[in-house]
Amino acid sequence: MSRSSIRRPFIAGNWKMHGSQATNAALLAGLKAGLPNLPKGEAGDDAAEIAVFAPYPYLDQVSRLAAGSRLAWGAQDVSRHAVGAYTGEVAASMLRDFGCRYALVGHSERRSLHGESDALVAEKFSALETVGIVPALCLGETLAERQAGDTLKVVFRQLDAVLAVCGAPALLAYEPVWAIGTGLTATPEEAQAVHLALRAHVAARDAAAAERLRIVYGGSVKAGNAAALFAMPDIDGALVGGAALDADEFLAICRAINV
Ligand code: PEP
Repeated sequence: MSRSSIRRPFIAGNWKMHGSQATNAALLAGLKAGLPNLPKGEAGDDAAEIAVFAPYPYLDQVSRLAAGSRLAWGAQDVSRHAVGAYTGEVAASMLRDFGCRYALVGHSERRSLHGESDALVAEKFSALETVGIVPALCLGETLAERQAGDTLKVVFRQLDAVLAVCGAPALLAYEPVWAIGTGLTATPEEAQAVHLALRAHVAARDAAAAERLRIVYGGSVKAGNAAALFAMPDIDGALVGGAALDADEFLAICRAINV
């Protein structure tokens, strides 16, 4: 059985805090124009799922412009609270209210710049699951942690915080912190080793869920390095930051998926 018949590849752009109504419209128009040219699966269906994670104020615009295309979309964060006096927060139910299917949780910029703990990330994960939004749980070690040989210890700790309060995840993004926005990428072999270990860690609790679990890689993915990453058996796609802001570059990454 091929990997794609078990796990549909997932390639997503994380727009971070970039964009305007005008640039979003141009980017989405470029993506939609290129989507029909992406590789098909064995059955002639769309091989990979393509998504964008947009800033909150633009989610409505993205949902309208993506409607009717194969482009999925999601949010970059969520509140851990369901409702109430939490000025500036956005509840999972609000995202669900207008059809949001995915949301990032635990992105390294949230963990490092906003002090998000493993426990808070797990609460956010749970808030999303409660309303039926698929959380894309981001995990990854810093350069110091990698150099200390602690990569697996760190990503297992981040994953275990979620496993302690929720079921097995459906979507993980392994993003070594030292590779995000730096131009440095884990080698395909380095990334594969972590993905394999993450899948085995989930399998110890739920073998079937581990088989279905999509684990995407993030960290300076570009058109030039995507194919080698996607050739690895446990790399099921990519979470793309900077290169996702250019429609041609992002589409070239999508074309590199080896289903
Ligand atoms: C990210 O922000 O999730 C990311 C992987 O960024 P970049 O591709 O720019 O390294």
